[in-house]
Amino acid sequence: MVKTLKTFDLKNKTVLLRVDYNVPVDNDKVVDDFRIKQTLPTIKHCLDSGAKLVISSHLGRPKSKKDRSLSLMPVGEALADCLEMPIKFSSDCVSEDAHNVTLGLKPGEIHLLENLRFYDEEVNNDYDFSAKLAKHGDIFINDAFGTAHRSHASNVGVANHFSRKGIGFLIENELNFLSKILSKPARPLTLLLGGAKIDTKIDLIDHYIGIADKILIGGGMAFTLLESRGINVGKSIVDKSKVLSGVELINKAKLKKNLFLPKDVVCAKSIDDGSDQNIYDITKIPDDQMGLDIGPKTIESYSKYISESNTIIWNGPMGVFESSFYENGTKSLANHIATCTQNGLISIMGGGDTASALRKFNLEDKMSHLSTGGGASIELLSGKNLPAIFALEV
Ligand code: AMP
Repeated sequence: MVKTLKTFDLKNKTVLLRVDYNVPVDNDKVVDDFRIKQTLPTIKHCLDSGAKLVISSHLGRPKSKKDRSLSLMPVGEALADCLEMPIKFSSDCVSEDAHNVTLGLKPGEIHLLENLRFYDEEVNNDYDFSAKLAKHGDIFINDAFGTAHRSHASNVGVANHFSRKGIGFLIENELNFLSKILSKPARPLTLLLGGAKIDTKIDLIDHYIGIADKILIGGGMAFTLLESRGINVGKSIVDKSKVLSGVELINKAKLKKNLFLPKDVVCAKSIDDGSDQNIYDITKIPDDQMGLDIGPKTIESYSKYISESNTIIWNGPMGVFESSFYENGTKSLANHIATCTQNGLISIMGGGDTASALRKFNLEDKMSHLSTGGGASIELLSGKNLPAIFALEV
């Protein structure tokens, strides 16, 4: 059993809270505080219940402790702004000074620790490092869904040092939504997948061939599957190492007839070339062109399938949505899903780029659920255990 935050008596206790504050920072300012805001209900509950709060997170992939551009200091400032209260900050997450700051905390106060990944021990799930982290709390609460598929010291190792441990509201909400989908989705269930990388999504497709009513593929990853089908994709991106797995997937889906690939694509000679776009039927992509967005026929047929669905899981943009020349596929389907959601469709969005696209089109609050963890939601939806959740079993 994994305990939830509300089951703990937090009065005068020190809570070590792991969050995912891996947010974009530019010029010492947080550019997008979505992930910070998502943790506020958990933080407020801890403070209102009389707890002392120690918060830990990673930020980016620092090469060393000296990589101050990846300090969590600006994140602390953004969090202090959100909560309208001062926050104590330690420039090292496991130093004696940091432990002393924790010891001096009063109920209702917050102590933010410096970037966990300034220590290699974090990603190596080092025992001594996790023991030092554990000294920061009486109770361990994990609310970092974005890293729940990783076995690191701050989410898996540290949990072994606590008898009182559980999940925060953000993870609870994610699990409720995603496991509802896993156990009894309202059908028809459609999986819409895009983005550039197919390697992270192969297992998801494989798992859902047996589950989903329709799997609609767009984005760069479609071209690997098109090549698996023997279609010439010109200069479009293809992951050669996955073409054979693609053949297996396509064969597996033949019986089910539930895997759909784009019918047409918007192409250009290069990704930076906005001057000369052409739409081609999927079997007629010229050798010197690369596919950068789904075309109008694909948008039409995918929209129809979405209208017929009762649940949709979407991960990955349909094209290079960052450019106004290649945003149309992602934008059209996002708008369509938003409208269908108003009419009862359950829409579950995952992945950082899907979230950025929805934000770009001002649709992020029009979906039923916007997951904070791309990799973690993919693993969970693929039917795999999340090690950080497993580590909280009591
Ligand atoms: P991923 O991390 O795999 O979800 O990929 C997200 C990225 O895929 C976004 O930055 C998109 O610009 C990119 N992308 C989507 N479609 C294409 C495409 N047809 N060719 C190249 N990149 C693409």
